Amino acid sequence: MDRRKFLQSAATIAPAFFSGISSAWAQSDYWSQPRGIWLQRQTSNGKEEVRNIYFADGRIIPDGYVQACRLLRDVRAGQAVQMSPVLLDILCGIQGFLGAHGYSIPLVTTSGYRSPATNAATEGASRNSMHMHGRAWDGRMPGVSGDVMAQIALYLQGGGVGLYKGRGFIHIDDGRLRFWRG
Ligand SMILES: [Zn+2]
Repeated sequence: MDRRKFLQSAATIAPAFFSGISSAWAQSDYWSQPRGIWLQRQTSNGKEEVRNIYFADGRIIPDGYVQACRLLRDVRAGQAVQMSPVLLDILCGIQGFLGAHGYSIPLVTTSGYRSPATNAATEGASRNSMHMHGRAWDGRMPGVSGDVMAQIALYLQGGGVGLYKGRGFIHIDDGRLRFWRG
């Protein structure tokens, strides 16, 4: 399937995603299964990728969790922190939701943790950004519109969702439930 067709189908199938709690996904025991995350990021090192389990049997799996935290580091400062497991759950949920509908797609990261200095140097970043607390992610999923990603994130009710359509990314955090367009 070419990208254009995929985009159209993703847009077309979106309403069915939200037709109610009777979806197969909602009935599944998704959150009792091991939780994985598939992250990609383009950095000066080239393309980085993590595809691993970060949580299983009620606890963090150190290998996968640390790998995810490293990829989500402040690239500019060369600094990694412990990312919020709840944030990872939201991202895992978005990915799992699409996966349950047959779309296996990486989360292409543009920003994860930001040190205060990096945050201050980031255009449009709020002064008390959740990124500085390891609780926010910016990025996109190839072939999935920001609208669809935002709808899934809102459906999951994990936290804040900012849709930056013109700039081609979505912001996800584990804070208060809210939605805005940037
Ligand atoms: Zn953000």
